[in-house]
Amino acid sequence: MAVVDGAYVFQGPNLVLPHDADDKQAFHTLSRSLVFNSFDGHCEIPTVDGEYGMAACMLDTSAALPKGWRSIPIRQALSVAARGIVTAGSPEGLLFRAYHIMQWRRESRYCGSCGSLNGDAPQGLARLCPVCGRQEFPRISPAVIVLVTNDRDEALLAHNANFQGGIYSLLAGFVEAGETLESTIIRELREEVNIEVDTIQYAASQPWPFPNSLMLGFTARYAGGALKPDGKEILDAGWFSRDALPNLPGNGSVARFIIDRWVSRGT
Ligand SMILES: [Zn+2]
Repeated sequence: MAVVDGAYVFQGPNLVLPHDADDKQAFHTLSRSLVFNSFDGHCEIPTVDGEYGMAACMLDTSAALPKGWRSIPIRQALSVAARGIVTAGSPEGLLFRAYHIMQWRRESRYCGSCGSLNGDAPQGLARLCPVCGRQEFPRISPAVIVLVTNDRDEALLAHNANFQGGIYSLLAGFVEAGETLESTIIRELREEVNIEVDTIQYAASQPWPFPNSLMLGFTARYAGGALKPDGKEILDAGWFSRDALPNLPGNGSVARFIIDRWVSRGT
């Protein structure tokens, strides 16, 4: 297991870097001494992960950056730096882990059961309430994302109301309590675009810490129904052939990975 004896600085959804740092290197850790010298006193700098040895600082969103520092949205840095899927232990994967944990640390200061101030558990990555003994682990929210294809060898891509710049991507949705991953896929496709699917197969997964998702990617076959976007979450949807694709999501997303794989391999 690689040990990363470095540190990250976050501010809201942004990564904070020295002014002269290259965006392509944004996902690599900074030296601990640089981060401690520049930010000690402005934020808590815990070791976020004993296994990898990473430390991180989460600045208040209103804090002014020290001279010589700048910030870049993590997702923008990802589209510049990432190639293919983000894997555990890669520079992007390590940063995702640190960012996920730092957000969780901020949101788990108090016990969700009795309201006391939480401490860190003596072992493992957990909060421990000193009053009632409740433990809290980093929350991970599973979400499915699915490439649906039809008999004309076209893929279903949709424009979500939250997407910028006319981007079309795969349909996705959070898993609800009591659901299997397959039932989530069937429900989401019915709700969002009014179609039925079958032949659901696992494709790939990727952490997505905005704020705490695990994206579980699948493929499925169109099995019926007239395509009809719900008009709320999905504003437009259509069937696209490989040689006439719309604007796609950026690198470093599981959606782009699955679309690229379909384009190159036909699966
Ligand atoms: Zn408690």
